[in-house]
Amino acid sequence: MTCCYKQLLAALTFGLITVSATANDKDKKIPPFPGIDTTSVYRELLIDETDDLMENHPAGDIYNNIWTSTRLNPYKIPVDSLPDSVRIDLSKFVVPVTGYITSRFGPRRYRYHYGTDIKLQTGDSVLSSFSGKVRITDYDRHGYGHYVVIRHDNGLETVYAHLSKVLVALDQTVEAGELIGLGGNTGRSTGSHLHYEIRFLGNAMNPEKIIDFEKGMPFMHEYLITKNESFYYQKEVKAMAAAKYYKIRNGDNLSRIAARNGTSVRALCRLNGISPKKVLRVGQRIRVR
Ligand SMILES: [Zn+2]
Repeated sequence: MTCCYKQLLAALTFGLITVSATANDKDKKIPPFPGIDTTSVYRELLIDETDDLMENHPAGDIYNNIWTSTRLNPYKIPVDSLPDSVRIDLSKFVVPVTGYITSRFGPRRYRYHYGTDIKLQTGDSVLSSFSGKVRITDYDRHGYGHYVVIRHDNGLETVYAHLSKVLVALDQTVEAGELIGLGGNTGRSTGSHLHYEIRFLGNAMNPEKIIDFEKGMPFMHEYLITKNESFYYQKEVKAMAAAKYYKIRNGDNLSRIAARNGTSVRALCRLNGISPKKVLRVGQRIRVR
């Protein structure tokens, strides 16, 4: 495939094939190109011009050779379609930063938190968990702040967010324990901390199920990824997506809100963890479904 890709690129460069003639003009056929299967290569070129094919990376096969610096999850593989079980070598793990956990992986009020937050001081060293290659370095003002995504040789990808400074470049090869940035408080963050994610084929897993952060090492030398164990939280995500909120207005009480939203006071109390006597404040949001 790689050689075909290069041949086709060469053909495009020398004007043997014109892209515009095939994109809009259905009457004209692409001239046959001897010896290569143009359809699949051509499709790849059309799908995403920004994606490069990744070559010679141990995890390249798992990721179908998709290598892009523009999206955290370009793979779009739903959890249901993931392989049944995959063994991941954790033996070379290095903890990215030593500190206590300030926020866990799991549901937050209105959105899911796909990582583990670890306390640090701005300027503290942040290290790569495993060896690999830097796939993304970017700045997201409303989210991750300055962040780095690394594709590891063992098949995982990790995310390091809210950094004050990024110290690696795109496509750079890193070793386990290598300095990749300095901790900070950039993006959507209150207080200096590292937001740390572990993903497999784009899907986040709870880092605390894999790493014992108190000891700064994995629970086992090897982690077995399975749909049920590793992606147990999918039900919570779906429930959150189905959740509906109501903004409390002047004169509202629980029974009025319940009636207005086709539910009961009891259900409202259970859903929000409140008592029926709870004092409501105007402007506050309450979950109704
Ligand atoms: Zn976080």
